Amino acid sequence: MYDLIIRKGKLVKPDGILEADIAIKDGKYAAFLAPGSAAEAKEVVDAEGCCVFPGIIDCHAHLNEPGFEYREDFATGTRAAAAGGTTTLMDMPLNNDPPLTNRAAFELKLSRIQKKAAVDYALWGGIIDDNTDELVDLKECGVAAFKGFTCPNGDLFPAVNLGHVRRALELLKPYGALCGFHCEEYGQILERERRLKAGGSGDPIRDFLDVHDLWAEYVATQNVIDMARATGGRVHICHVSHPKVAQLVREAKAEGLPVTAETCPHYLAFTEKIVFEKGAPAKCTPPMRDEAAKEGLWEYVLDGTLDCIGSDHSPAADGEKDNALGIWEAWGGLNTIQYFLPLMFDLVVHQRKLSPCLIARTMGEMPAKIFGLRDRKGAFEIGLDGDAVVLDPQKAWTVTRESLLTKGHISILEGISGKGAAVRTIVRGRTVAQDGAFEEDAFGYGSFLRPAQY
Ligand SMILES: [Zn+2]
Repeated sequence: MYDLIIRKGKLVKPDGILEADIAIKDGKYAAFLAPGSAAEAKEVVDAEGCCVFPGIIDCHAHLNEPGFEYREDFATGTRAAAAGGTTTLMDMPLNNDPPLTNRAAFELKLSRIQKKAAVDYALWGGIIDDNTDELVDLKECGVAAFKGFTCPNGDLFPAVNLGHVRRALELLKPYGALCGFHCEEYGQILERERRLKAGGSGDPIRDFLDVHDLWAEYVATQNVIDMARATGGRVHICHVSHPKVAQLVREAKAEGLPVTAETCPHYLAFTEKIVFEKGAPAKCTPPMRDEAAKEGLWEYVLDGTLDCIGSDHSPAADGEKDNALGIWEAWGGLNTIQYFLPLMFDLVVHQRKLSPCLIARTMGEMPAKIFGLRDRKGAFEIGLDGDAVVLDPQKAWTVTRESLLTKGHISILEGISGKGAAVRTIVRGRTVAQDGAFEEDAFGYGSFLRPAQY
């Protein structure tokens, strides 16, 4: 007798779609059976007409605990993730106080969040200007990867220079651990922001976009790739926003360098037009680019240059996203975690008429492989965690302030509609969300994922 059978779904794998029943026992995939099999289980979920993903992994999320729970905490962030169809997320070390840059911070964070998480999670550790001596110890704690900023990012999480980048890669290389970077080049951002803020074009949104233009991202990405070449350490380029940056990644991979990269739904869905239209709710860095860049970026997703897609959910209190603040003072970060899968499904399947297999690859298989979670997640294989996202491909959705389960109610996505939504989110055999509503007793069910090997 199985614990759960998911019947008659279309199992979406990176390389094709398989019609089968999924049998789960003790939280793991136990068997894949002929559709409509006679096998018995304590619970049966009917998935006829639905796509079933082997879990969805969001490799880039900021849930802000500890320290900034007024924006988001692990309960509100993971319930929104679960409702939207995310089964595993990887939380960032910044927008935390203390930031996750040493063992004490790791232990404090884990003690706080493990009682609240509703989906499984792994943690990014931080690289800042003075913690290179802590990195190996932090790896021993079980962080899945390390994140640094090449540009100013506030006092709590100072930028790294190329010396820090190089040292971090040297130290972590023997362990195969990966360092991801927010790539915008420090000098350009600093000089241009100071100058354009004081008196630019007369349109602050134009000036903001110009400060964070392609060349800041391009130069920092090139620098970081050069450090991968110098050291042989693994580098990951976070939130690639432009095809010229993706081209650097393509060339690095062709050269055999240990470089991986991600992009985000907002760069694939929107252009800078939305920043002019919405202002503060659409502010993020790097910002959205022009139409040609958006279209060009898709080619690099399709050919696998951009390995994975992460939401870069970076929440704010409503007051911090108010247009009354002006674009310079408003919070830079988007509220997107709940619609990560619905938006990508609509873009990929309905708007671009592409296969949902692309989602299984970029939001499942590849993040699991890159971040050392493949022994538990990312594929329909007997013995792996019995995660499943049952998605109705025709279910319509519209983002409203009321629909958001995050703490903040202001999202770049407000007013956006699409088709394709999770009707059931299952983590290790247990339903944590159903029909967009979150199961209240799932708080604390989510477990910490320690990478098996890098
Ligand atoms: Zn981020």
